Amino acid sequence: MIIKPVDPSRPLPLHDKGAKPPKGLPNGDELKRLLAVEQERLGELQSAFYADRRHALLVVLQGRDASGKDGTIRSVFDACNPQGCQVASFKAPTDLELSHDFLWRVHQVVPARGTIGIFNRSHYEDVLVVRVKNLVPKRVWQHRYRQINDFERMLTENGVVILKFFLHISKDEQREQFLERLTDPTKNWKFRAGDLDDRALWGDYTRAYRDALRKCSTRWAPWYLVPSDHRTARNYLITKVINETLSALKPEYPRASKEVLALKGTLAR
Ligand code: AMP
Ligand code: MG
Repeated sequence: MIIKPVDPSRPLPLHDKGAKPPKGLPNGDELKRLLAVEQERLGELQSAFYADRRHALLVVLQGRDASGKDGTIRSVFDACNPQGCQVASFKAPTDLELSHDFLWRVHQVVPARGTIGIFNRSHYEDVLVVRVKNLVPKRVWQHRYRQINDFERMLTENGVVILKFFLHISKDEQREQFLERLTDPTKNWKFRAGDLDDRALWGDYTRAYRDALRKCSTRWAPWYLVPSDHRTARNYLITKVINETLSALKPEYPRASKEVLALKGTLAR
């Protein structure tokens, strides 16, 4: 099973029930087995992708607090060579970052060809938290959808393949995850009191996500809505999309020229 990109011409309700794994997806041990197969396959594809160096892959992860962005990074890229991966986490901008255009800090961490860049949050925060919390006036953020589409198009025209995943969790599941963070001493650090402010703004975030996903799911940089209440399903669905995308690029190990291969005969024992 593979999920399809968000279709901008269709309504996107983002109801809680859409956070449950899709019907028809196996569960339990069978799903774990399928995930392991896809993880291994990603490791193999990445190895050739790194050697090939024709493209970069940018994986954007967005989602509410406790939607599983960190867990996704840990699981999906488990079999990848760290040398070919980099993670960029986007926090509230620094003074220096704020003194530039909003894409300045983003462009600096776009992955180089041959590598996979993972964005834990991204430039989409500039039309999400920034919009919901009125950090800039509407006349500023409303142009950003187009600016983001133009920026992403420019990147794809320069060899960067872009996949964007919205980790969709239900309000109940977020509550469970928050409770776990407050109960398990090894998870306390993940909880900020401010997370509850964002939870109280659930509906505002839903509207902001809906606009971001519909206005910016383009041919060149599609958004995928990932049902994320169930971790293994989430990890499997994301890994599958990445694998199909990478294998369509047909990454190849560059072969040495005849002249270079002929050097084999001159290698001293
Ligand atoms: P976390 O991902 O839990 O480490 O939290 C990072 C925090 O930084 C989140 O609350 C984001 O909403 C916030 N953040 C990220 N980018 C921006 C931005 N451009 N403007 C304001 N806040 C941001
Ligand atoms: Mg957080």
